[in-house]
Amino acid sequence: MELKQLYEEMGISPMVLKYGQNIEKELKSRFEVIDETAEYNQMKVIQAMQKARISDVHFAATTGYGYNDLGRDALEDVYAYTFHGESALVRPQLISGTHALHVALSGNLRPGDELLSPVGKPYDTLEEVIGIRQSVGSLKEYGVIYRQVDLLADGSFDYDGIRQAINERTKLITIQRSKGYATRPTLSVDKIGQLISFVKAIKPDVICMVDNCYGEFVERQEPTDVGADMIVGSLIKNPGGGLAPIGGYIVGKQECIDRASYRLSAPGLGKEVGASLGLNQSFFQGLFLSPTVVAGALKGAVFAANVYERLGFSVVPDSTQSRHDIIQAVTFGTPKGVIAFCQGIQAAAPVDSFVTPEPWDMPGYDAPVIMAAGAFVQGSSIELSADAPIKPPYAVYFQGGLTWYHAKLGILKSLQNLLDQHIIHTLA
Ligand SMILES: *Cc1c(COP(=O)(O)O)cnc(C)c1O
Repeated sequence: MELKQLYEEMGISPMVLKYGQNIEKELKSRFEVIDETAEYNQMKVIQAMQKARISDVHFAATTGYGYNDLGRDALEDVYAYTFHGESALVRPQLISGTHALHVALSGNLRPGDELLSPVGKPYDTLEEVIGIRQSVGSLKEYGVIYRQVDLLADGSFDYDGIRQAINERTKLITIQRSKGYATRPTLSVDKIGQLISFVKAIKPDVICMVDNCYGEFVERQEPTDVGADMIVGSLIKNPGGGLAPIGGYIVGKQECIDRASYRLSAPGLGKEVGASLGLNQSFFQGLFLSPTVVAGALKGAVFAANVYERLGFSVVPDSTQSRHDIIQAVTFGTPKGVIAFCQGIQAAAPVDSFVTPEPWDMPGYDAPVIMAAGAFVQGSSIELSADAPIKPPYAVYFQGGLTWYHAKLGILKSLQNLLDQHIIHTLA
């Protein structure tokens, strides 16, 4: 059977396939650059694993308190080496990105301290962590003051505003690398470095934390290479490589990581406890695969930008812009467009392809959210997934794909869906 016929059996018409193939051909040189970055990052990870002398003893399971968990300790060394930090906390007990961020923030802030976001509103779930939106147990309830300086209209830093916002109580600044559910640009590691230098010139002892979610291995350097004191992320996004079934990480300065560890377990216990429950092999192997998995996801994002921009939809980043995370936003302008797109992504999945996603009121979000995911790991967004809050401008945020071929199928399927539902009429 020819490939074209196989695609047709999977619901992709020859016209949609041809449209996609033409775009793919034009993206050859961009895909090459993505592959070169993956090669560089693959070497970083292997070098880190060799330096930590990883062997199969590190894959053994521990239970109970988890004292002397060799695999856990070695995994944390590998993360620290890979991301050029002094120390790391990489645990299944960090149950999500939000949790890891909460542990990093609450471990390092004390009552009366100020937390500053110089890059505008943080990711939705952090609003309740910080207390921007009323919530029980927020940092605000513990006496942490929050300040925010928005980006300027062109997406650049408001340096004057930031200078004015920093004062003697400013303890920690939080910089979100990825756009999250916003249509602002994602920050490059270079830009993050400039911001950190600016802030540290005003107040050298301020802790600079970067929410690194979706950014890992997209570039050759990470925020820890440009002055970040802590980077934080989720293992069911980039660095888990699709294999980690749970987990989060914090990498950075020894004292920041230690303080976070006393918050995660208990004062006095810190990093010494926390059984790895047999998950170490998945964590190691996932990190090992992550650079190539991220490359596949990036190709999908670039492909989607090109597919939808040509059809007249606004896309962030646009078809030619450089990439600093794996997320692609496409603005459809109507709930119908968003829903059709997400349902197409779902229909392309290896798992739960027969399910039809619908918008629902998800905890932590202020509007109904539709999520498409046919994932091996529930909620994993390094796997091909799309989500959209059902509110203007009706943009869908699309990310992941453990392989480029799967990402490609998902995008073609979404396009087919939009055509079949007459949301778009022709492929120009
Ligand atoms: C996903 C994400 C988070 C939260 O991670 P969860 O694992 O979903 O809790 C925080 N910040 C950013 C930028 C993210 O993309």
